[in-house]
Amino acid sequence: MDLKDKKILVVGLAKTGVAVTRFLAEAGAQVTITDMRDDEALKDVLAELADLDLCLELGRHVPYSFLMADLVVVSPGVPMDIKPLEMARAQRRRVVSEVELASWFIKAPMVAITGTNGKTTTTTLTGEIFKGCGFDTFVGGNIGNPLIELAMSGAEVERVVVELSSFQLEGIESFRPHVAVLLNLTEDHLDRYHSFQEYIDAKLRIFENQGADDYAVLNIDDPLVAACAGKLKAKLFPMSRFHELEEGISYRDGFITFAHNGKVLRFGTEGFRLKGVHNLDNIMAAMASTLLMCCDGECAYQTVKNFKGLPHRMEFVEEVNGVAYYEDSKGTNVGSVVKSLESFDSGITLIAGGKDKGGSYEPLAKLVSERVSHLVLIGEAKERMKEALGHLTDTRFAETLEEAVDMAHRLTEPGGVVLFSPACSSFDMFKNYEERANCFKAAVRAAKKEETGA
Ligand code: ADP
Repeated sequence: MDLKDKKILVVGLAKTGVAVTRFLAEAGAQVTITDMRDDEALKDVLAELADLDLCLELGRHVPYSFLMADLVVVSPGVPMDIKPLEMARAQRRRVVSEVELASWFIKAPMVAITGTNGKTTTTTLTGEIFKGCGFDTFVGGNIGNPLIELAMSGAEVERVVVELSSFQLEGIESFRPHVAVLLNLTEDHLDRYHSFQEYIDAKLRIFENQGADDYAVLNIDDPLVAACAGKLKAKLFPMSRFHELEEGISYRDGFITFAHNGKVLRFGTEGFRLKGVHNLDNIMAAMASTLLMCCDGECAYQTVKNFKGLPHRMEFVEEVNGVAYYEDSKGTNVGSVVKSLESFDSGITLIAGGKDKGGSYEPLAKLVSERVSHLVLIGEAKERMKEALGHLTDTRFAETLEEAVDMAHRLTEPGGVVLFSPACSSFDMFKNYEERANCFKAAVRAAKKEETGA
């Protein structure tokens, strides 16, 4: 699409909206930006765009602008089912997400990664492997730097790795990754979707424009992921920790086996710095994607071996009075907390809670009753979590995260573990999961200081 002089409406002015606006304006489009927040709330954002000639509709959405636009670009934070977007679609206006727009201007072959959990870890590792194997690579999407930044820079990279949320996938039309990865599907974001099925359908759109030359990497150990294998147009490249595969990537007895077109490569997992079975899934997905796109096996393996993982995902903080403290503030849904609890055998004090996302806490029940000695709950979700889990172990409420750490400190026996893995988003008490993580770490370090008297 030639953007020059086109009337384009950008909906939502966070980081992605700002990047999209600049890209469109520089391409000569007539850009209108709209956000439900008003100019006062957006003054920092507007300052960043002060050099551009834009039409502003802030503090409200003007239906006429949605109906008159040649193109509407929606930021990931904006629900696709808001009334003015529905009206625009009903009038056959083109409504797309930023990744769709960006993909029109990117030629390099792309790996796209989605799933409920593990996206950022897998995306980062995939990017590292490509770079380690000598490919000039852009890593972006939901991970923090919008894909449109690549389009805007005009850089001719050799590989693109993009992390995609269900929200970004809802707004694609022709987006076509050469390799598309689906890691897992568990309940999440039920505050934004009417049903779990609707969320799954959004995720599955990652495969919809692929062709017979492309690959779909599916974690077939997850029954909901495996169920979509029959609907693919791309070649299936399965991954599994339970099945040996003649074509695909699998794990058994300390070895990862990559088997493709009759070629078999084996890699020992001893000494990997990334721990936990869920990270084995992330590693297999990253290795499959990169080896399918011409990376050398040995070279990829060296990067995997040295990859330490990312902060706020099961990060060890300190040992205080013989108790190990782990920070997993990115554990924002039940599926990820299941994996975090599976990483320890018993003696866990779990600190959880935050902003409730509307899903069920039942999948935690078995692990809580078997491995959690104390459950300390915070935030808006605490009543609902207590209802689902309170009868299974010693359960208490804390008003603040600091108070929760203090309680955990007093309750946990030496040799035990304090795990902060909230199963909820942070927005009821914090700006974001990073601020929440820092609050937890500061409280743990204060306890450590008291112990050592330093
Ligand atoms: P995402 O980007 O999908 O949120 P992250 O890599 O940031 O995923 O990890 C988020 C949380 O999910 C972490 O707390 C981690 O413990 C858990 N996790 C990571 N990988 C997986 C996986 N493959 N399956 C289940 N849980 C995972």
